[in-house]
Amino acid sequence: ERLISSTHDVEDQAIDRAIRPRRLIDYAGQTRVREQMEIFIPAAKFRGEALDHLLIFGPPGLGKTTLAHIIAHEMEVNIRQTSGPVLERPGDLAALLTHLEPHDVLFIDEIHRLSPVVEEILYPAMEDFQLDIIIGEGPAARSIKLDLPPFTLIGATTRAGLLTSPLRDRFGITQRLEFYNNQDLAAIITRSAHILNVPLDSAGALELAQRSRGTPRIANRLLRRVRDYAQIRANGQITLEVARKALDLLNVDNYGLDMMDRKLLLAIMEKFAGGPVGIDSLAAVLGEEKGTIEDVIEPFLLQQGLLMRTSRGRMVTKLAWQHFGLNPTGSLDL
Ligand code: ADP
Repeated sequence: ERLISSTHDVEDQAIDRAIRPRRLIDYAGQTRVREQMEIFIPAAKFRGEALDHLLIFGPPGLGKTTLAHIIAHEMEVNIRQTSGPVLERPGDLAALLTHLEPHDVLFIDEIHRLSPVVEEILYPAMEDFQLDIIIGEGPAARSIKLDLPPFTLIGATTRAGLLTSPLRDRFGITQRLEFYNNQDLAAIITRSAHILNVPLDSAGALELAQRSRGTPRIANRLLRRVRDYAQIRANGQITLEVARKALDLLNVDNYGLDMMDRKLLLAIMEKFAGGPVGIDSLAAVLGEEKGTIEDVIEPFLLQQGLLMRTSRGRMVTKLAWQHFGLNPTGSLDL
Protein backbone atom coordinates (compact mmCIF):
# COMPACT_ATOMS: atom_id res chain seq x y z
CA GLU A 1 0.00 0.00 0.00
CA ARG A 2 3.04 2.22 0.18
CA LEU A 3 2.96 2.78 -3.55
CA ILE A 4 6.06 4.88 -3.50
CA SER A 5 7.94 2.97 -0.87
CA SER A 6 11.33 2.04 -2.16
CA THR A 7 11.66 -1.51 -0.95
CA HIS A 8 11.42 -4.53 -3.25
CA ASP A 9 8.23 -6.38 -4.05
CA VAL A 10 7.54 -9.47 -6.13
CA GLU A 11 6.21 -7.73 -9.21
CA ASP A 12 9.29 -5.53 -9.10
CA GLN A 13 11.57 -8.49 -9.33
CA ALA A 14 10.13 -9.92 -12.55
CA ILE A 15 9.95 -6.66 -14.47
CA ASP A 16 13.19 -5.52 -12.89
CA ARG A 17 15.12 -8.16 -14.74
CA ALA A 18 13.86 -6.77 -18.04
CA ILE A 19 14.57 -3.12 -17.37
CA ARG A 20 17.68 -3.24 -15.20
CA PRO A 21 20.57 -1.74 -17.19
CA ARG A 22 23.42 -4.15 -17.86
CA ARG A 23 26.08 -1.79 -19.20
CA LEU A 24 27.70 1.23 -17.63
CA ILE A 25 26.58 3.28 -20.60
CA ASP A 26 22.91 2.64 -19.69
CA TYR A 27 23.46 3.57 -16.05
CA ALA A 28 21.79 6.99 -15.96
CA GLY A 29 22.92 9.90 -13.80
CA GLN A 30 25.63 9.39 -11.15
CA THR A 31 28.10 10.96 -13.57
CA ARG A 32 31.02 11.01 -11.17
CA VAL A 33 30.54 7.35 -10.27
CA ARG A 34 30.30 6.35 -13.90
CA GLU A 35 33.33 8.38 -14.96
CA GLN A 36 35.43 6.82 -12.24
CA MET A 37 34.29 3.28 -13.00
CA GLU A 38 35.02 3.90 -16.68
CA ILE A 39 38.64 4.22 -15.63
CA PHE A 40 38.94 1.66 -12.82
CA ILE A 41 37.34 -1.21 -14.75
CA PRO A 42 39.44 -1.06 -17.94
CA ALA A 43 42.57 -0.41 -15.84
CA ALA A 44 42.03 -3.58 -13.79
CA LYS A 45 41.30 -5.54 -16.95
CA PHE A 46 44.40 -4.15 -18.63
CA ARG A 47 46.55 -5.31 -15.73
CA GLY A 48 44.80 -8.67 -15.67
CA GLU A 49 43.78 -8.15 -12.05
CA ALA A 50 40.57 -8.34 -10.06
CA LEU A 51 38.97 -4.95 -9.50
CA ASP A 52 39.69 -3.42 -6.09
CA HIS A 53 37.08 -4.07 -3.39
CA LEU A 54 34.28 -1.56 -3.71
CA LEU A 55 31.87 -0.10 -1.19
CA ILE A 56 28.65 1.47 -2.49
CA PHE A 57 26.45 3.48 -0.21
CA GLY A 58 23.19 5.36 -0.62
CA PRO A 59 19.48 5.18 0.25
CA PRO A 60 17.35 2.24 -1.03
CA GLY A 61 16.42 2.09 -4.70
CA LEU A 62 19.20 4.32 -6.04
CA GLY A 63 21.01 1.58 -7.97
CA LYS A 64 23.54 -0.13 -5.69
CA THR A 65 22.63 -3.67 -6.78
CA THR A 66 22.38 -2.56 -10.39
CA LEU A 67 25.85 -1.04 -10.26
CA ALA A 68 27.33 -4.21 -8.76
CA HIS A 69 25.84 -6.32 -11.56
CA ILE A 70 27.01 -3.87 -14.20
CA ILE A 71 30.54 -3.98 -12.82
CA ALA A 72 30.63 -7.80 -12.98
CA HIS A 73 29.28 -7.68 -16.51
CA GLU A 74 31.84 -5.09 -17.61
CA MET A 75 34.64 -7.04 -15.92
CA GLU A 76 33.32 -10.16 -17.73
CA VAL A 77 33.18 -12.18 -14.52
CA ASN A 78 30.50 -13.97 -12.50
CA ILE A 79 28.69 -12.29 -9.65
CA ARG A 80 27.49 -14.06 -6.52
CA GLN A 81 24.98 -12.18 -4.46
CA THR A 82 24.18 -12.44 -0.76
CA SER A 83 23.37 -10.13 2.10
CA GLY A 84 24.68 -9.38 5.57
CA PRO A 85 21.84 -10.91 7.61
CA VAL A 86 21.81 -14.11 5.49
CA LEU A 87 25.42 -14.94 6.35
CA GLU A 88 24.86 -16.24 9.84
CA ARG A 89 27.91 -18.42 10.40
CA PRO A 90 31.53 -18.23 9.19
CA GLY A 91 30.87 -21.41 7.19
CA ASP A 92 28.20 -19.63 5.12
CA LEU A 93 30.73 -17.09 3.93
CA ALA A 94 33.47 -19.72 3.53
CA ALA A 95 31.21 -21.73 1.21
CA LEU A 96 30.70 -18.71 -1.01
CA LEU A 97 34.34 -17.69 -1.05
CA THR A 98 35.67 -21.13 -1.92
CA HIS A 99 33.39 -21.31 -4.96
CA LEU A 100 34.62 -18.10 -6.53
CA GLU A 101 36.58 -18.15 -9.75
CA PRO A 102 39.48 -15.74 -10.25
CA HIS A 103 38.32 -12.08 -10.48
CA ASP A 104 34.69 -12.95 -9.65
CA VAL A 105 32.52 -10.45 -7.81
CA LEU A 106 31.01 -11.29 -4.43
CA PHE A 107 28.20 -8.83 -3.73
CA ILE A 108 27.10 -8.43 -0.12
CA ASP A 109 24.03 -6.24 0.28
CA GLU A 110 23.38 -4.70 3.71
CA ILE A 111 26.98 -5.36 4.57
CA HIS A 112 26.62 -3.34 7.77
CA ARG A 113 24.49 -6.21 9.13
CA LEU A 114 27.23 -8.86 9.02
CA SER A 115 27.76 -10.63 12.30
CA PRO A 116 31.15 -9.91 13.93
CA VAL A 117 32.34 -13.54 13.57
CA VAL A 118 31.61 -13.50 9.85
CA GLU A 119 33.17 -10.08 9.44
CA GLU A 120 36.37 -11.38 10.96
CA ILE A 121 36.67 -14.07 8.26
CA LEU A 122 36.28 -11.36 5.69
CA TYR A 123 39.34 -9.35 6.73
CA PRO A 124 42.07 -11.83 5.65
CA ALA A 125 39.94 -12.84 2.68
CA MET A 126 39.83 -9.26 1.42
CA GLU A 127 43.39 -8.40 2.30
CA ASP A 128 45.41 -11.50 1.43
CA PHE A 129 42.85 -13.70 -0.33
CA GLN A 130 43.20 -16.15 2.53
CA LEU A 131 40.55 -18.07 4.31
CA ASP A 132 41.24 -18.68 7.98
CA ILE A 133 38.68 -20.89 9.65
CA ILE A 134 38.44 -23.15 12.63
CA ILE A 135 37.02 -26.60 12.06
CA GLY A 136 35.66 -28.77 14.82
CA GLU A 137 35.29 -28.00 18.50
CA GLY A 138 37.19 -28.44 21.76
CA PRO A 139 40.56 -30.24 21.71
CA ALA A 140 39.86 -31.56 18.19
CA ALA A 141 39.46 -28.05 16.81
CA ARG A 142 42.04 -27.01 14.29
CA SER A 143 42.55 -23.94 12.24
CA ILE A 144 42.94 -24.26 8.50
CA LYS A 145 44.19 -21.76 5.99
CA LEU A 146 43.12 -21.84 2.37
CA ASP A 147 44.25 -19.71 -0.54
CA LEU A 148 41.40 -18.01 -2.35
CA PRO A 149 41.44 -16.76 -5.91
CA PRO A 150 41.77 -13.00 -6.21
CA PHE A 151 38.19 -11.65 -6.16
CA THR A 152 36.32 -8.39 -5.79
CA LEU A 153 34.09 -7.79 -2.83
CA ILE A 154 31.32 -5.29 -3.51
CA GLY A 155 29.51 -4.21 -0.38
CA ALA A 156 26.34 -2.13 -0.31
CA THR A 157 24.97 -0.19 2.62
CA THR A 158 22.58 2.67 3.24
CA ARG A 159 25.23 4.60 5.13
CA ALA A 160 29.01 4.27 5.25
CA GLY A 161 29.00 5.32 8.90
CA LEU A 162 27.30 2.07 9.86
CA LEU A 163 30.38 0.02 8.98
CA THR A 164 33.09 -0.83 11.46
CA SER A 165 36.26 1.01 10.54
CA PRO A 166 38.42 -2.12 9.99
CA LEU A 167 35.91 -3.25 7.38
CA ARG A 168 35.58 0.17 5.78
CA ASP A 169 39.36 0.50 5.55
CA ARG A 170 39.63 -2.64 3.46
CA PHE A 171 37.72 -1.20 0.52
CA GLY A 172 39.94 0.37 -2.13
CA ILE A 173 37.06 2.25 -3.79
CA THR A 174 34.05 3.92 -2.20
CA GLN A 175 31.13 5.20 -4.25
CA ARG A 176 28.33 7.25 -2.83
CA LEU A 177 25.10 7.34 -4.85
CA GLU A 178 23.10 10.56 -5.01
CA PHE A 179 19.39 11.15 -5.57
CA TYR A 180 18.66 11.53 -9.29
CA ASN A 181 17.59 14.77 -10.90
CA ASN A 182 14.41 14.92 -12.97
CA GLN A 183 16.20 14.76 -16.33
CA ASP A 184 18.00 11.57 -15.38
CA LEU A 185 14.84 10.03 -13.97
CA ALA A 186 12.94 10.97 -17.13
CA ALA A 187 15.64 9.24 -19.18
CA ILE A 188 15.35 6.11 -17.02
CA ILE A 189 11.53 6.13 -17.33
CA THR A 190 11.73 6.63 -21.10
CA ARG A 191 14.12 3.73 -21.47
CA SER A 192 11.94 1.47 -19.31
CA ALA A 193 8.79 2.48 -21.22
CA HIS A 194 10.52 1.58 -24.44
CA ILE A 195 11.46 -1.87 -23.12
CA LEU A 196 7.93 -2.42 -21.75
CA ASN A 197 6.40 -1.17 -25.01
CA VAL A 198 4.47 1.68 -23.40
CA PRO A 199 3.92 4.83 -25.48
CA LEU A 200 5.12 7.77 -23.39
CA ASP A 201 5.84 11.36 -24.40
CA SER A 202 8.51 13.58 -22.90
CA ALA A 203 6.10 15.72 -20.85
CA GLY A 204 4.57 12.56 -19.39
CA ALA A 205 8.03 11.24 -18.56
CA LEU A 206 8.98 14.46 -16.80
CA GLU A 207 5.78 14.47 -14.76
CA LEU A 208 6.52 10.93 -13.58
CA ALA A 209 10.12 11.90 -12.85
CA GLN A 210 9.06 14.81 -10.67
CA ARG A 211 7.03 12.56 -8.45
CA SER A 212 9.58 9.76 -8.12
CA ARG A 213 11.37 10.94 -4.98
CA GLY A 214 14.72 11.09 -6.81
CA THR A 215 14.69 7.28 -6.92
CA PRO A 216 14.81 5.01 -10.02
CA ARG A 217 13.03 2.13 -8.30
CA ILE A 218 10.07 4.40 -7.54
CA ALA A 219 10.17 5.88 -11.06
CA ASN A 220 9.86 2.43 -12.62
CA ARG A 221 7.07 1.49 -10.24
CA LEU A 222 5.07 4.64 -10.97
CA LEU A 223 5.52 3.98 -14.68
CA ARG A 224 3.86 0.60 -14.33
CA ARG A 225 0.92 1.95 -12.33
CA VAL A 226 0.38 4.84 -14.72
CA ARG A 227 0.56 2.40 -17.61
CA ASP A 228 -2.38 0.52 -16.05
CA TYR A 229 -4.34 3.74 -15.83
CA ALA A 230 -3.50 4.73 -19.40
CA GLN A 231 -4.63 1.37 -20.74
CA ILE A 232 -7.98 1.45 -18.95
CA ARG A 233 -8.87 5.14 -18.84
CA ALA A 234 -7.05 6.53 -21.89
CA ASN A 235 -5.83 5.11 -25.18
CA GLY A 236 -2.77 3.49 -23.65
CA GLN A 237 -0.55 6.50 -24.20
CA ILE A 238 1.07 8.30 -21.29
CA THR A 239 0.88 12.03 -21.91
CA LEU A 240 1.22 14.85 -19.40
CA GLU A 241 -2.52 14.88 -18.79
CA VAL A 242 -2.80 11.13 -18.40
CA ALA A 243 0.21 11.06 -16.07
CA ARG A 244 -1.24 13.84 -13.90
CA LYS A 245 -4.66 12.30 -13.62
CA ALA A 246 -3.23 8.86 -12.86
CA LEU A 247 -0.80 10.14 -10.24
CA ASP A 248 -3.50 12.22 -8.56
CA LEU A 249 -5.80 9.22 -8.49
CA LEU A 250 -2.96 7.19 -6.99
CA ASN A 251 -2.47 9.89 -4.37
CA VAL A 252 1.14 10.50 -5.27
CA ASP A 253 2.36 13.76 -3.83
CA ASN A 254 3.62 16.30 -6.36
CA TYR A 255 7.00 16.34 -4.60
CA GLY A 256 7.09 12.56 -4.68
CA LEU A 257 6.76 12.48 -0.89
CA ASP A 258 5.46 9.20 0.41
CA MET A 259 3.38 8.43 3.48
CA MET A 260 6.36 8.21 5.82
CA ASP A 261 7.82 11.47 4.53
CA ARG A 262 4.53 13.21 5.14
CA LYS A 263 4.11 11.62 8.54
CA LEU A 264 7.55 12.78 9.63
CA LEU A 265 7.15 16.36 8.43
CA LEU A 266 3.62 16.65 9.82
CA ALA A 267 4.73 15.27 13.18
CA ILE A 268 7.43 17.93 13.46
CA MET A 269 4.98 20.65 12.44
CA GLU A 270 2.00 19.57 14.49
CA LYS A 271 3.58 18.04 17.57
CA PHE A 272 6.79 20.04 17.87
CA ALA A 273 5.78 23.39 16.38
CA GLY A 274 8.20 22.90 13.50
CA GLY A 275 11.13 21.82 15.66
CA PRO A 276 13.88 21.61 16.61
CA VAL A 277 13.19 18.13 17.87
CA GLY A 278 15.69 15.39 18.76
CA ILE A 279 15.81 12.23 16.70
CA ASP A 280 14.86 10.05 19.69
CA SER A 281 11.63 11.94 20.38
CA LEU A 282 10.81 11.86 16.70
CA ALA A 283 11.42 8.11 16.53
CA ALA A 284 9.15 7.59 19.53
CA VAL A 285 6.31 9.66 18.07
CA LEU A 286 6.54 7.96 14.67
CA GLY A 287 7.05 4.48 16.06
CA GLU A 288 9.98 4.04 13.66
CA GLU A 289 13.53 3.01 14.25
CA LYS A 290 16.06 5.79 14.46
CA GLY A 291 18.17 4.15 11.75
CA THR A 292 15.25 3.99 9.31
CA ILE A 293 14.49 7.65 9.89
CA GLU A 294 18.11 8.64 9.34
CA ASP A 295 18.91 6.38 6.36
CA VAL A 296 15.66 5.95 4.49
CA ILE A 297 13.37 8.89 5.19
CA GLU A 298 15.53 11.90 6.01
CA PRO A 299 18.12 11.96 3.20
CA PHE A 300 15.55 12.88 0.55
CA LEU A 301 13.82 15.48 2.73
CA LEU A 302 17.18 17.11 3.49
CA GLN A 303 18.15 17.08 -0.16
CA GLN A 304 14.83 18.69 -1.13
CA GLY A 305 15.26 21.44 1.46
CA LEU A 306 12.14 20.41 3.38
CA LEU A 307 14.04 19.46 6.53
CA MET A 308 17.11 20.76 8.34
CA ARG A 309 19.44 19.12 10.81
CA THR A 310 20.64 21.57 13.43
CA SER A 311 22.72 21.06 16.54
CA ARG A 312 19.50 21.19 18.57
CA GLY A 313 17.60 18.70 16.41
CA ARG A 314 15.47 18.45 13.29
CA MET A 315 13.50 21.44 11.97
CA VAL A 316 11.14 21.76 9.05
CA THR A 317 11.77 24.58 6.57
CA LYS A 318 9.48 27.29 5.24
CA LEU A 319 9.14 25.21 2.08
CA ALA A 320 7.67 22.35 4.10
CA TRP A 321 5.11 24.63 5.76
CA GLN A 322 4.15 25.93 2.32
CA HIS A 323 3.95 22.46 0.81
CA PHE A 324 1.38 21.43 3.41
CA GLY A 325 -0.41 24.77 3.29
CA LEU A 326 0.25 25.28 6.96
CA ASN A 327 1.59 28.20 8.94
CA PRO A 328 4.29 28.10 11.59
CA THR A 329 2.76 28.49 15.05
CA GLY A 330 3.01 32.00 16.29
CA SER A 331 3.62 33.41 12.84
CA LEU A 332 1.94 36.78 12.34
CA ASP A 333 1.19 36.49 8.64
CA LEU A 334 -1.64 34.00 9.12
P1 ADP B 1 19.42 -0.55 -4.58
O1 ADP B 1 20.26 -1.79 -4.67
O2 ADP B 1 20.25 0.69 -4.33
O3 ADP B 1 18.29 -0.64 -3.59
P2 ADP B 1 18.66 -1.23 -7.28
O4 ADP B 1 20.00 -1.39 -7.90
O5 ADP B 1 17.90 -2.47 -6.96
O6 ADP B 1 18.74 -0.29 -6.00
O7 ADP B 1 17.81 -0.30 -8.28
C1 ADP B 1 16.40 -0.29 -8.31
C2 ADP B 1 15.90 -0.27 -9.73
O8 ADP B 1 16.12 1.00 -10.30
C3 ADP B 1 16.61 -1.26 -10.62
O9 ADP B 1 15.78 -2.32 -10.93
C4 ADP B 1 16.96 -0.53 -11.91
O10 ADP B 1 16.10 -0.94 -12.94
C5 ADP B 1 16.70 0.91 -11.61
N1 ADP B 1 17.93 1.70 -11.62
C6 ADP B 1 18.73 1.97 -10.57
N2 ADP B 1 19.73 2.78 -10.90
C7 ADP B 1 19.60 3.03 -12.22
C8 ADP B 1 20.34 3.82 -13.16
N3 ADP B 1 21.42 4.52 -12.76
N4 ADP B 1 19.91 3.85 -14.43
C9 ADP B 1 18.82 3.16 -14.79
N5 ADP B 1 18.06 2.42 -13.96
C10 ADP B 1 18.45 2.35 -12.68
